Amino acid sequence: MSEKFEDHQIRDKIQIDYKYTMGGQSKFFIELMKNKKLHGTKCAKCGKIWMPPRKHCSECYTPAEWVEMPHTGTIEVSTIVWYGAAEFIKNVPYGCGFIKLDGADNSLFQGIFSENLVPSKIKKGRRVRAVFKKSDEREGKMTDFFFVPEDEYETWANKPEFEGGE
Ligand SMILES: [Zn+2]
Repeated sequence: MSEKFEDHQIRDKIQIDYKYTMGGQSKFFIELMKNKKLHGTKCAKCGKIWMPPRKHCSECYTPAEWVEMPHTGTIEVSTIVWYGAAEFIKNVPYGCGFIKLDGADNSLFQGIFSENLVPSKIKKGRRVRAVFKKSDEREGKMTDFFFVPEDEYETWANKPEFEGGE
């Protein structure tokens, strides 16, 4: 009879300080943080507009150029989130979904907040507009902004912790 293996384990913690780069997408995050601008890219050859931006066109692989996008778009698909990671738990429940900004050829996944969060408020086809964290709160992350139904824009843009775009 062989003796049962007993694994000795010690609980420990690892803390890692690190930074990561957004590489070729950096302009998007810098413009978001500093100027509340949403930048996509436009293919120099076929004219497709990528938002989120892509350095090279996914259709024809031609290098794409930066273009400023409007802050308005349409919900393509959405859901309501009831569980979230630490960063988002304070916002539960909240909406999220794929939003096609006006003029874009692809869709951006982003949070969709509403004063009255029911499925009909954030359903496919609904018009939304971007709202931003205040300048001293923006870090150059996707969480620097979110979308709200167009008819709630003024309400959200006037909250003390947020601001509208131009
Ligand atoms: Zn192209």
